Amino acid sequence: MKQQADIVRVVGEYFQLKKAGQNFRGLCPFHSEKTPSFNVHPVRQIFHCFGCGKGGDVFDFVMEMERCEFPEALRIVAEKCGIALPRPKEHSPEERKEKQQRTVLVEMHREAQTFFLKQLEGTLEGKAARAYLEDRGLEADAIARFGIGYAPSGGDALLRHLKNKYSEKLLADSGLISRDQGGRLFDRFRRRITFPISNESGKIVAFGARALGDDQPKYLNSPETPIYSKSNVLYHMDRAKEGIRRQDFAILVEGYMDAIAVARAGISNVVASCGTSLAEPQIKLLGRFTRRVIVNYDPDAAGQTATERSLSLLLEQDFEVRVLALPPVGDKKADPDLFIREMGAEAYLKLLKEAPPYVDYLISRARQMDLTTAEGKLRAVNFLLPYVQKIPNRILRSEWATRIAQQLRLEEPVLRAALSKAAAERRRELKTQPELVARAAKPVERRLIQMLAEAEGFRQELAQQLQNARLYHGLETEKIFAALVVASLSGQPLQATELAAVLEERDRRLLFEILFEEASEPTWEEAMSCVEALQHRQAERELADVQRSIETNPPGPALRGLLEKKQELMRRLAATR
Ligand SMILES: [Zn+2]
Repeated sequence: MKQQADIVRVVGEYFQLKKAGQNFRGLCPFHSEKTPSFNVHPVRQIFHCFGCGKGGDVFDFVMEMERCEFPEALRIVAEKCGIALPRPKEHSPEERKEKQQRTVLVEMHREAQTFFLKQLEGTLEGKAARAYLEDRGLEADAIARFGIGYAPSGGDALLRHLKNKYSEKLLADSGLISRDQGGRLFDRFRRRITFPISNESGKIVAFGARALGDDQPKYLNSPETPIYSKSNVLYHMDRAKEGIRRQDFAILVEGYMDAIAVARAGISNVVASCGTSLAEPQIKLLGRFTRRVIVNYDPDAAGQTATERSLSLLLEQDFEVRVLALPPVGDKKADPDLFIREMGAEAYLKLLKEAPPYVDYLISRARQMDLTTAEGKLRAVNFLLPYVQKIPNRILRSEWATRIAQQLRLEEPVLRAALSKAAAERRRELKTQPELVARAAKPVERRLIQMLAEAEGFRQELAQQLQNARLYHGLETEKIFAALVVASLSGQPLQATELAAVLEERDRRLLFEILFEEASEPTWEEAMSCVEALQHRQAERELADVQRSIETNPPGPALRGLLEKKQELMRRLAATR
């Protein structure tokens, strides 16, 4: 299928490509630009944008364009290229069994949902729960819209409802039913308002539950199960995704009550992380629909910490982030739910529109620290630096530095010195900045990577040499080399996209960049000179290590060994100079 699908043709159906050297080039659809940096490689059947760093094969492209999953992309590509779809590949018995189990668990959740709804609707206890909900401003329409239900206090009501149909093991695996220490089953949710949590495609996979009285914990969610992992799911995503796509931004709140309140205010593009902090898979999920987020967490200490942690993660993933910190209502700190109930949707919407960029939020947080002493100022700077460092654009970063200096009444040169020091220390950690990634690989490494990828005549032999001498260990590009060496030694023709699949995002980008560089036909002589350069660098690193050990002044015999080693390394270095 992949062989028959031509990426140039598929991309060409979305926008115009022009031939440029060996490649085709066009304006990138994934970021806004005036000069084309989106490249398609007709031979390798891959694309890469040098502006935003997106890259992959024809399926990655379609998945990104259409914001769809792989099977859908497969269908689209097949259609565009007039190819009959191959039959889905056979699954192993275990896979089939797991899939079956997931289907049953989803069905069980659907039944539990019906059960909870009936409890709220038709029982005395449910009536009290409805009164509580009404008190929180949730009337019948909202209850119906968000599928709010009630788990009764008995302790085994749901269990009795389900146990004729499902095995004990399945019940326990579902997370709806718990086991006590004696192995006895009982309802996990008791005397609680229930909120169904759906996955992206709208299937209920878990429940959140709020205590009715003062029971602890106030909020209790389903545990991790075969169908639910809390770091993979965003509450309300199934209903928010259209709005997010359309408006190209999402509002991120903490809990389901907040999400419900915001959605009821007519703002559909809201999701909740359903836990105090956001996890990377959740950001990836969100990133499929937008790169712009307004974070509106609770104003308490936990919410602030969660905001700051989420900021870090979002910035790392290249999100444009704004922060909405709601003002208190009367003397109460306001979460979105409370704020909208007391002040109304209009007031919320207005604040949302005015939500400042994250740096402004952080500066105002830093200003709350004691800035009268030198230590206090240092603390404030140290609080801000990591975030400022994550601003990919240098000019913008510099502007923020000026602003921070003014706002915190710092001397600008001092701040700038701290910034550039931190920059040097952090350069290696930063993940998603193309400008930094580009610098990460030395030309020799780049050239060897190209040769391993395309020198059909000798890539196997070259890979063997690199592996034997452990020449790529400790390099920035180590993981790329490791993957390429394995692929080359297999003797199979290289599949760039399969290779990319085993690499992390940062390495994948770098690999694609390198593969798109125009280069002359590689020769064995050139390969060997690159290998020598690596040997030289390896010896230099070893020499530095030995020198450091010598300086620790070890006892006689050890020192003699080290000195001998030093001599040998210096000879080797002289030979390869
Ligand atoms: Zn781009």
